[in-house]
Order: sequence, then structure tokens, then C-alpha cells
Amino acid sequence: MISNASNAYRPGEVIVRLKGDTQSLASTDGFADKYGATVTDSFDFGNQGGILDRGQMMQLKLPAGLSTEQAIAKMKQDPTVAYAEPNFIYTLPEQPGQQPPAQQPPVQQPTPPQNDGPAQFLPNDLTDQLWGMNNTGQGGGKADADIDAPEAWAIHTGRNDAPIIAVIDTGIDYNHSDLKANIWTNPGEIAGDGIDNDGNGVIDDVHGYNAFADNGDPMDGHGHGTHCAGTIAGVGDNGEGVVGVNHHAQVMAVKIFSDEGSTDSAAILRAIEYATKMGAKVTSNSWGGGGASEAQKEAFASSPALHIMAAGNNGWNNDWVPNYPSNYEIPNNIAVAASDSKDNKAGFSQYGVKSVDIAAPGVDIYSAAPGGGYQMMSGTSMATPHVSGVAGLVASMYPEASAEELRARILNGADKLDNWKSKVADGNRLNAYGALTSQP
Ligand code: CA
Ligand code: CA
Ligand code: CA
Ligand code: CA
Repeated sequence: MISNASNAYRPGEVIVRLKGDTQSLASTDGFADKYGATVTDSFDFGNQGGILDRGQMMQLKLPAGLSTEQAIAKMKQDPTVAYAEPNFIYTLPEQPGQQPPAQQPPVQQPTPPQNDGPAQFLPNDLTDQLWGMNNTGQGGGKADADIDAPEAWAIHTGRNDAPIIAVIDTGIDYNHSDLKANIWTNPGEIAGDGIDNDGNGVIDDVHGYNAFADNGDPMDGHGHGTHCAGTIAGVGDNGEGVVGVNHHAQVMAVKIFSDEGSTDSAAILRAIEYATKMGAKVTSNSWGGGGASEAQKEAFASSPALHIMAAGNNGWNNDWVPNYPSNYEIPNNIAVAASDSKDNKAGFSQYGVKSVDIAAPGVDIYSAAPGGGYQMMSGTSMATPHVSGVAGLVASMYPEASAEELRARILNGADKLDNWKSKVADGNRLNAYGALTSQP
């Protein structure tokens, strides 16, 4: 999780959106000139109720002598401005309960279903470490405190031409041998020729986008995003590594953090803009913290994708102390708490019956690491990609489904657990089989 406890921001910068009914200012440059500022980026979330229709959003560099606070105060009096806010800075601290890399796991012996329940498909890389996918009580866990992945896989395992799942994070090791086959490739881009072949504004964006550095290489130099990608779509049944919720998928790497673990609001806006423009159906957001950003909220709401968002790792009730982006009240997001292998709430997990929609496995989650390895990590950051993976799996099976329909299938298909009813809406804990078989 990232945090912005101090509400730090980049001095001398502002993110501003103009009102859509502004007739007098046709361009962002015209607005910037009025303040002696320079437009350093502009954003278009366009293709569904696009905010362009309602007024342009931009990032400004202010002139010397005009502070961020002064500019925002002035712009709040400006009748052409819908809102103006700082370019917030976020940093990525250590994960809770992070552990050193585990040994290569033993392969679990496939076992037949223990009852007359739905059929199961047990891939050859479903190891005992992956309790969140299938929990038979291994390691002291509680049997069936899991997402019923084998039951879901008996129905559907994903497709290599499935709707795109964007991982908005530290990037992804797109060369990892257990991920590579499931990484999205931009069909309009030629690698390494230094040319923006598809004209989307990013040169050589073959597997995604580095929104922090604004270039076409989203390689993960940190580890967090690669871990999330492995849970979403580690290549399934290939006799190697882990198995993701999707055995086959198209995962887009959208990097918002530097390898040192920092980012800002402008990079996050560029990331949402890119994922939306390039057609992502699901975005996975294992980050959060700081105050509310009207710009980020509007960017998420304007995208037709379903946005899965971590509830946070500070243990508090988000109904009382909001966490962003997971607390944004928009129709196309899901906020995720972390459960453990006994179906209890992880001690670190934030929760809230009004503000958190569902729990998913997030303690001692084994997944991919950069450089071809694997590691164990814990956090609502790890719970979130379980839900993103299920969203992708449902989207693969029902490619015409809207974000709202995907959301409804996931929530309707969740297990309704008594011990979660005081913690998340309806006591929901993710169930992949339920999501595939429920009605929207
Ligand atoms: Ca189960
Ligand atoms: Ca391009
Ligand atoms: Ca190119
Ligand atoms: Ca595998």
C-alpha cells in the first residue's frame, strides 16, 4: 500500500479541471496563460461519458512566486474552474508480514472432490502454498476458506484473447517465465524502433506503460506489481511456479511507482488514462492512502472498466476514516479487505460494512517475483488481485458484460460469511465459482 499521511505534494504544481460550459477559454493553454503557468500534461478519460465533454483536466507548472496554495486559492474563485488540487506525492512502504522468498514448493497431489459438489479442475501447479485458491486445511488453515478456484476452473480458465486486465502498480516482470504468455501485447506497436507506431502518445509501449517516467517500459524493479500479476494470471497448468486465477489472460502492465517506490497524482491519472484508452476491462489497484482527489475519482468514474481497490493495511474501519481510492462512491469499483486461511479478517486489514465490498485471501500469499522467482507477501494488496483475477475470469466468460454487471456477479456470487457481516458488505468473501455461476 502506498501512503500519503502527510498529504505531501509537488510544490509549484497544480491539477485543475475546467468547467465544461466554459465558452471563453477554448484551450488549456489559454487557461494556463492567465496564471503565467505552463501545461505539463493534459488528460482525457474520454470514451464513456468522457470528462472532455465536461471540461478539460490538466497538470500545470506554476510560475516562480506563485505557490500551490496561492494558485489553488485563486482558482477556487475562478468561475471557469471546476476544481483545483495539489499533485499529491505517494510512497510505497514495506508490506505487512512480508516474508523472505519461500522454497520451491512441492506439487500438491490432485485429490478428487470430497463431496458431491461441483466438478473441480486441479492444475499441476496448484501447490499447497496457494491456500487462497483451494484450502483443504493445509498449513493449519480451515478447509474451504478459499475462493473455490478449482470449481471455477472446471467451468472456465480464461483465454489469451480475453478482455484486458490492467495492473496499476510497480510494473510487471513481463519476461517472467510463469507470466510471459499472459502479458498483453499492444497489437499496434512495433518494439524497439523508437517510434510511436499506434499513435497513442507512448513510444514502444509493447506490454504497457510506465506512467511514472512517461515511457513505454513498465518493467518492475520493485516486486509488488509482479506479485499481483502472478495472482491474477500466473500461467496455469504448465508444471511451473504458481497458478493464477486466470490460467490464460491478457495482463497489461501499468507502472505508477518508481523502483524506489514513489509516485504522484499526475502519474496515477496518466495510468488510468492509458488503461482506459487501450481498452482495459478491469484495473487492479493495490495502493491507496492520503486525502481524497477529485481528479482521481473522476478519472476512475469516467473509465468504463471495473476498478478493484485495496481497503488498506492500517486495521481501521474505513466507514469512519476513509481510505482512497477504495472509498470513492462510484458505480464501477470494488473495495477489498484481506482474509486469512481460517476465513478471519487479517489483523492489518481495513474494513467497513458501508465502504468495503468484499474480502479475499491476503495473508501469506505465494506468487511471482521479478527475475523469475517467487515470494510470499501479505496485505490487502494481495487480496485485491484475487478479486481482479476473478473479474477478469468473469469478463473472459461474459465479454459483453459491463463493469456494473461484472461487479454484480462478483458480489452476488460471494460466500456470505457470518463472521464477516460486521466487517464488509453482506459478509462477502470472494468465490470464483460463485462469480461465474451467479446472475448479475
Ligand atoms: Ca473450496
Ligand atoms: Ca504507442
Ligand atoms: Ca514502436
Ligand atoms: Ca504456472
